[in-house]
Amino acid sequence: MMLACLPDPVPPARHEIAASYIGRLATLHGLDINAVWLRVTEREASGGMRRVVVPERLAALTGRSVHALAGALPELRDPQPDWAMFRHQPQPGCHHCDTKHVGGKVTRLLPHHRYVCTRHGVWIGPPDADQPSVSLADLPEIADAQHRHLRILHRHGWAATYDALLTAFTFCGHIWTDGEPVTNPCRVEHIWAERAHSLIPPETTKKSYSTSRLFAAVYPEAVSVAALLASPHWRRLASGTTAEREHFYREISRRIDYPYKDDQKHSDAIAHWADTDAWRPSSHPLVTYRPGRTHGRLPDRHRGREQRHDKSALWFDRTRRKAGRNLLFHNHVKAVLTRAWTPAYEKFEGVIWHSARVDEQMKAATTRERQDFLKNGK
Ligand SMILES: [Zn+2]
Repeated sequence: MMLACLPDPVPPARHEIAASYIGRLATLHGLDINAVWLRVTEREASGGMRRVVVPERLAALTGRSVHALAGALPELRDPQPDWAMFRHQPQPGCHHCDTKHVGGKVTRLLPHHRYVCTRHGVWIGPPDADQPSVSLADLPEIADAQHRHLRILHRHGWAATYDALLTAFTFCGHIWTDGEPVTNPCRVEHIWAERAHSLIPPETTKKSYSTSRLFAAVYPEAVSVAALLASPHWRRLASGTTAEREHFYREISRRIDYPYKDDQKHSDAIAHWADTDAWRPSSHPLVTYRPGRTHGRLPDRHRGREQRHDKSALWFDRTRRKAGRNLLFHNHVKAVLTRAWTPAYEKFEGVIWHSARVDEQMKAATTRERQDFLKNGK
């Protein structure tokens, strides 16, 4: 029989998902996770099989107020938060922050702009293959970039910042794939390769590899570029007259190597963005988190995901100095590669090719679309 109130109701972690907290409480008290889950949840109002937490029941079980619980657990908030502002996938957070939370693994639902625990200097995002978070002690510029990222957020709001950073990540992906040979130490790819070397040492690639760490390697420059892409002023220049556009390109060149390849006639991700996307609204996440689950116990790591991870690690090992491809193929940036106006391609290779396309045929199509947009507002 379960007690009315648990004797050791530890507090929830910030941004923890309810199932993770309930699982920890059950483990700490030697109780069955699903039994506790059933006790504090009810079927969702739509009548499906998913169950959602009843805040008052969790408050009664823990002796903690609904207000205090909802401060940490986003799913308990009333009204519910705008889930589009969060990543759709719960993930592990900073391992230092987690040490004070007992009872098992802490799984959190982080907002899009959380990449670094600035308190401990630890990389925590985006979620990837359940790798433990990694220390940035030797790479302080990555932790500094989180502060600059937050400034963009406060200035331009979450939607513009989300789109801008992911778009900047895709630029980094293209540059790190198509740019000059990375033997030139002045090139940004060289800096990225050095950071990747530190985050994923060659002798431990299979164990330490995660595409998330490659996002860490490019994060400082991505944030610098995102500050421009989120700004209405710079977006207007990017899609303006030839002189305005040149001004935008000069500013980009101060922040990242641009132009990034010798022959830009047919392929240039930054010029493609200026032609096709700068004058359109921001793209939103493709998938949004939905609270509620059928079972209390969180699933173990997915097998398919593990195989995908091993394949990416192998690919990275072979092409270490041209790792941008791994970034472009990662789900994290999919929302800005498959925008509402991106043509359908059978294979994702086509989508990536399209995102850098700048030939005359492409330009003519974009000009027509832009005229329609200005005329009809769509
Ligand atoms: Zn921390």
